[in-house]
Amino acid sequence: MPADLLSVPFSFLRMFSDVVFPPVCHSCNASLPRGGSIACPACLAAIVPVDEWDTAYREAFARLNEERTVSDFVAAWYFEREGPLRLLMHRLKYGGMSTIGLEFGRVLGERIREAGLAESDMIVPLPLHATRIRERGFNQCEYIARGVSAVTGSPVRADLLRRTRFTPSQTTLGHGERRENVRQAFAARRRAPRDVAGRTILLVDDVVTTGATMRSCACALHGAGARAVIACAVAIAR
Ligand SMILES: [Zn+2]
Repeated sequence: MPADLLSVPFSFLRMFSDVVFPPVCHSCNASLPRGGSIACPACLAAIVPVDEWDTAYREAFARLNEERTVSDFVAAWYFEREGPLRLLMHRLKYGGMSTIGLEFGRVLGERIREAGLAESDMIVPLPLHATRIRERGFNQCEYIARGVSAVTGSPVRADLLRRTRFTPSQTTLGHGERRENVRQAFAARRRAPRDVAGRTILLVDDVVTTGATMRSCACALHGAGARAVIACAVAIAR
């Protein structure tokens, strides 16, 4: 009932904003039909979906599960060096476009549901260090987690993990350095054991590369007593 009441003014606002700011593809700026998606059909068609039989998926899962802390892995797309997904991700991460994060999360949420994993107890976004939150004003993984929650119905818990060390941007580092960089960079907050013990958790990231950050967070959640941690990412880098 409250959702219906809210949807009336929201759709009115959306209609209004569509007239003032006609919707465009967030990747190539082509105009979109009213009420359309975040990207045009041509851009969406250029993004490669993950197939669980792919070698790239299985290798990423194996890396995530090196310490046996991740019980399953769901990812929606492949992240290529160039192309629409890179542009969309950039606009989410550095431009703070929450609509992109929510839409990514909804797509990921559908994949989680198809995999039969939607019954999880909570959704935990990968935390950013407080310094980076101050710089950007938001955590893009939290937007994605909210989109996942809109599909699965489980609550988002952004208050259970924290980054203990400020790590330099990962993009300039090699694999070995990244691994060292994120080792024990995450910890469960003091309140976590009470809420996490015996629970199944969807751990949400934007792009999985080496999997080291996911592994570090999964370890922290298991340390707090989690029963199972399922790694979920919008995309796998390749
Ligand atoms: Zn486009």
